[in-house]
Amino acid sequence: MHQLTLAEIARGLADKKFSSEELTKVLLARIAQLDPQLNSFISLTEDLALTQAKAADARRANGESGALLGAPIAHKDLFCTQGIRTSCGSKMLDNFKAPYDATVVAKLAAAGAVTLGKTNMDEFAMGSANESSYYGAVKNPWNLEYVPGGSSGGSAAAVAARLLPAATGTDTGGSIRQPAALTNLTGLKPTYGRVSRWGMIAYASSLDQGGPLARTAEDCAILLQGMAGFDPNDSTSIDEPVPDYSASLNGSLQGLRIGVPKEYFSAGLDPRIADLIHNSVKELEKLGAVIKEISLPNMQHAIPAYYVIAPAEASSNLSRFDGVRFGYRCENPVNLIDLYKRSRGEGFGPEVQRRIMVGAYALSAGYYDAYYLKAQKIRRLIKNDFMAAFNEVDIILGPTTPNPAWKLGAKNSDPVAAYLEDVYTITANLAGLPGLSMPAGFVDGLPVGVQLLAPYFQEGRLLNVAHQYQLNTDWHTRTPQGF
Ligand code: GLN
Repeated sequence: MHQLTLAEIARGLADKKFSSEELTKVLLARIAQLDPQLNSFISLTEDLALTQAKAADARRANGESGALLGAPIAHKDLFCTQGIRTSCGSKMLDNFKAPYDATVVAKLAAAGAVTLGKTNMDEFAMGSANESSYYGAVKNPWNLEYVPGGSSGGSAAAVAARLLPAATGTDTGGSIRQPAALTNLTGLKPTYGRVSRWGMIAYASSLDQGGPLARTAEDCAILLQGMAGFDPNDSTSIDEPVPDYSASLNGSLQGLRIGVPKEYFSAGLDPRIADLIHNSVKELEKLGAVIKEISLPNMQHAIPAYYVIAPAEASSNLSRFDGVRFGYRCENPVNLIDLYKRSRGEGFGPEVQRRIMVGAYALSAGYYDAYYLKAQKIRRLIKNDFMAAFNEVDIILGPTTPNPAWKLGAKNSDPVAAYLEDVYTITANLAGLPGLSMPAGFVDGLPVGVQLLAPYFQEGRLLNVAHQYQLNTDWHTRTPQGF
């Protein structure tokens, strides 16, 4: 049963082959048995899950239907869940029970999804390895000595290990697509403003976007359908109608223009990954796509710009965690300054502290123009590059990451080495564009992802291309040994 995709679960529930309650019990038992190896969950919500599963079964018995009605999922632990710990992977929020549900959580619950738990993540979503969590590192089910990617590494590891069919994630600079690539999943970062950020604990507000992680594009379509839509509570949410994503899957790729940026195949890319990406290009060509080399000339400036903008926004967003308004409070403060200093010093881990310091520095008087303003200008140039490219092509294709997963701890002493892993993903966040990563093969037994980018609000096009690719390849069906 644990091998079923969301689409298969929906059919099984509709055909009364099993109930949501039965399925939920099977998956909860599987999590209890296997998750100790992975550490992919921070909290399990067994009681809530069983209540929601029974309610979904009752709704089906009453004639209701829907692809998510009774479907088991989990939420990255930065989506607020009412009455349930929402830790953001941090000691700072270790005992924070959110007083309300995030819009994404509420929408999925209303659609009948069953929440099995809250998944592990890099602290405050900062990282590419899921090693900065207060709750310990997450292991990659493809090799337990390797990282699963981050920051949505718990969601990715859990779905890849077939502990559940799909989960939510968030992507500020690649945190859905990069762990999807490293664990052989399909992950989609929607257009900025497509999915509500209300109740999603902020890292860098102008870049953060929630989205689905699943095994197939078909399942990403189902989960995205439940997440997307205008939300008056989020001032950056965009009031655009949500198309039927599942209906977009079957379009023909005949004549689809795919742009392959030459800058994506520069020195930093593992040549074995380059080969796999070229194979996926050939596969899409067989399906009728037309390939064109394009250029994104400002790509080289993306990482420096991102690592100014994201920490700057983080330093502002995280100022509310001061032991007074929100978060951990130190023992026996001698005065207010001591309370602030020790609460933040003890509550935040080293990576978060590093980002706050970088961000506060970039925003400080005298440096703002030199760093933050400059980075915003680069951001515009990157967006312009994409706009020019999308005049010529329908989709941009390249690797998701320059390397496959690395050994736990291997990049710990060199934060910049980890930052460089985001080189292909962060441009989409800087420009606000939708992006998808899907399985494209293996290097030394570790999964590799191919990334697709599309113009604003063309999530359906990404899912269409990915689905057609998955009908003709079987990388996404491979299961890690032992799971
Ligand atoms: N790895 C990037 C960072 O650490 C992206 C993280 C994310 O997308 N949340 O900032």
